Amino acid sequence: MTDVPVSVVTGGAGFLGSHLCERLLAEGHRVVCLDNLDTGSLQNIEHVRDPRFDFVNHDVTEFIDVPGRVDYVFHLASPASPIDYLRLPLHTLKVGSYGTHNALGLAKFKRARFLLASTSEVYGDPTVHPQPETYWGNVNPIGPRGVYDEAKRYAEAMTMAYHRQQGVDTCIARIFNTYGPRMRPNDGRAIPTFLRQAMAGKPLTVFGDGSQTRSFCYVDDLVDGLVRLAFSGEHTPVNLGNPEEHSLLELAETIIRLTGSRSTIVFEALPVDDPKVRRPDIAKARRLLGWEPRVPLEEGLRRTWEWEQSWRPHSLTGLPYEKPTVETRPADAVPGEGRPGDSTT
Ligand code: NAD
Repeated sequence: MTDVPVSVVTGGAGFLGSHLCERLLAEGHRVVCLDNLDTGSLQNIEHVRDPRFDFVNHDVTEFIDVPGRVDYVFHLASPASPIDYLRLPLHTLKVGSYGTHNALGLAKFKRARFLLASTSEVYGDPTVHPQPETYWGNVNPIGPRGVYDEAKRYAEAMTMAYHRQQGVDTCIARIFNTYGPRMRPNDGRAIPTFLRQAMAGKPLTVFGDGSQTRSFCYVDDLVDGLVRLAFSGEHTPVNLGNPEEHSLLELAETIIRLTGSRSTIVFEALPVDDPKVRRPDIAKARRLLGWEPRVPLEEGLRRTWEWEQSWRPHSLTGLPYEKPTVETRPADAVPGEGRPGDSTT
């Protein structure tokens, strides 16, 4: 297997990472998945029975050692949902800084192409709409969301420094809200929360008056964008997301209709610094990568809902999702309150 390209995926047991590992295997790669199972789960990858796939339980804030050849480093490890990064603020900052430093060090040592999974959150509560990559953002560094937004902005800065000063072959994907099978029903992001509430016949919790907008990209489309970007020669950030914009209220109504639920909608106070609008300008991805999303929202929601029903029928009962016993927590994890139903990652 010496001629087979080797990809390391940090955060590979998470929602996006597990789909990316499968896609890379389908592309003919050997895949090394590094994850400390902090917010991911072995359930996401246990079906992958392939001799070219290895899982290593590793915290990327510690030095990363992968023996042998590495051609690509996909750095996805990070708490990603508001409920997670509000619960783990210090860990989120550490994984964005030490974790990114270690992943870049691995790419430099192996002369591998490096992809940073950044986020639309680098734009904060944007004053430019839709958001092109040239927009520098409007982030509150000391607000509760600052730990995630600034960790990713720092990770972008470090990635560009490794590229400019150390000559590492890097790229940066600014990922907008993505959804699909394997999102955790209690991770606080809008789509799994609304689906869980609709399935249980409970009211869907919409923050504010629900007029704030988001764009939702189906996971297969997003992963295709990540792979195209990694295989390209681009170094500066590229937005990846679905430019179709929907209000949160519209999303809740669509989910009630698609699931045939009798749920109602309740309105709650907006979380601090919740962005009012969010939509990617994907002209750069279209031009450079020939990429654009193909799965319409209703189709993606239907696929996600079907997966939820077949994979987690207990969520229909409204019982909380039980985490598998294989999951571990780092020593510095701080238990705390999240905001279920927060609208963005
Ligand atoms: P996720 O929580 O499902 O996956 C993150 C994975 O990283 C988990 O498996 C977790 O266990 C792992 N991880 C966290 N800290 C780690 C550490 N110190 N060492 C090793 N592994 C660690 O989240 P996701 O939605 O799959 O997000 C993946 C990446 O994409 C994140 O970097 C996130 O910021 C980015 N992103 C996601 C979205 C989205 O809509 N899903 C949007 C923007 C950006």
